[in-house]
Amino acid sequence: VSEGEGEGDSAGRGSGGAASEHLELLRRVTEGMTLHRKLEDVLGAITRGLVGAADAALARIWLYTAAGACGVCARDARADPAARDARSLHLCASAGIFEDLAGPLHRVPLGTYLGGRVAEHRAPLLLDDLQAEPSARDLPWIAEHGLRGFAGYPLLFDGQLEGVLGVFRRRPWEPEAFRVLGIFAAQAAIAIKNAALVEAVERRSERLTLENAYLQDELRRDHGSGAIVGRSAALREVLGRLERVAPTGST
Ligand SMILES: [Zn+2]
Repeated sequence: VSEGEGEGDSAGRGSGGAASEHLELLRRVTEGMTLHRKLEDVLGAITRGLVGAADAALARIWLYTAAGACGVCARDARADPAARDARSLHLCASAGIFEDLAGPLHRVPLGTYLGGRVAEHRAPLLLDDLQAEPSARDLPWIAEHGLRGFAGYPLLFDGQLEGVLGVFRRRPWEPEAFRVLGIFAAQAAIAIKNAALVEAVERRSERLTLENAYLQDELRRDHGSGAIVGRSAALREVLGRLERVAPTGST
């Protein structure tokens, strides 16, 4: 062991060593995020993993979505119904010094604060001195918690903005660690999009199952009354199609 090591710093190692170390840490976070199927769990694995592996004080993910599709907004009775379908950034995961997702900073319009800046330009943002940033001046907790470095990446899938990853540190980001975080963000965007698609398919399938159960129930009741009459136009339409696909008596 040479002198200088054991100080908990990457000093003394070449930038290649530091890069592979970052990669190794983020590989473990990537493994963690791919273990999950539910979007909420994927987001949690990413933010918690970054706090553990990237020496972050706070890691957050805002999804670029409509309030109607956001779990936090859905639970908020005061949410403005007019804003239901308009997309903006919604804080959907937060690990480290703050874990609460609701609150005044839950919804961030494009162009405002740090996440909003990343989303507006769809470009990475690296800041070394958060406390001197005009866009962070309204955020007293940045100074209170001694936060200094900010690394933000847009989460892009097929060129579309899916969200923003923001990672706060109490010290500046080394350029190499920031670059590696960008590789990780590209992987995270795929995992997030994948989980969101799976959830959308599952919701649709669940709805079809319910609709199917309802139709079956309607059919049974109509059979019970002796004839397939169909109380609604929709049911008659479905019955007509069933007749064409599987004529009575074919089974
Ligand atoms: Zn929301």
